Amino acid sequence: MNKKLFVISGCSGVGKGTVINRFMERNKDFILSVSCTTRKPREGEIHGVHYFFLTKEEFEQNISDDKFLEYAQFAENYYGTKKKYVKQKMEEGFNVLLEIDTQGALQVKEKMPEAILIFIAPPGVNVVTGDISGGLRELEHRLRGRHTEDEATIQKRLSQVKIELERSKKYDYTVINDDIDRAVGEIENIVRTNVAK
Ligand code: 5GP
Repeated sequence: MNKKLFVISGCSGVGKGTVINRFMERNKDFILSVSCTTRKPREGEIHGVHYFFLTKEEFEQNISDDKFLEYAQFAENYYGTKKKYVKQKMEEGFNVLLEIDTQGALQVKEKMPEAILIFIAPPGVNVVTGDISGGLRELEHRLRGRHTEDEATIQKRLSQVKIELERSKKYDYTVINDDIDRAVGEIENIVRTNVAK
């Protein structure tokens, strides 16, 4: 059967990692794509498992050779998904899930319109009207509640979140993470509907 490509993004502070981990535990026909990056490995991260760690030169050579399905640059580091990796995993019989940022997701949609884009949003975003203001307020409340960031950092984070929420309007689905099990269940419904097509 034809395998599918799904992309999940979400703004920071929305609990995306937990939702994806639980989804992956329960859906063994899926593989979570391993991206390439030029950032340094963090403690415990393994090449080929968490990321393929490349030098800037290697990454830029891959860009010139058109090897990426998508890539993005933030905080001075590149992140990208290799076309060959995705193709190979589909040939091995997996549905592939990319956990990437919104810039990359929209590139995927341009190159592969059949890919399904899912955005994980905070409670407060209105999925019917597309009104994001309640979601922004909710994230601001959470950020301020942590008391870990200064005002300038909070403002920077919020303007980034606003850009991501705006981009999410181009996604196929928005899932509100109000409850982890409910959100995972909704994602499972989305993927099962699309995998069956
Ligand atoms: P981290 O450095 O914390 O592992 O990841 C930082 C950000 O990079 C996350 O928002 C993650 O979604 C994004 N990211 C990870 N891999 C890729 C990728 O292959 N492409 C794009 N566009 N973003 C990625």
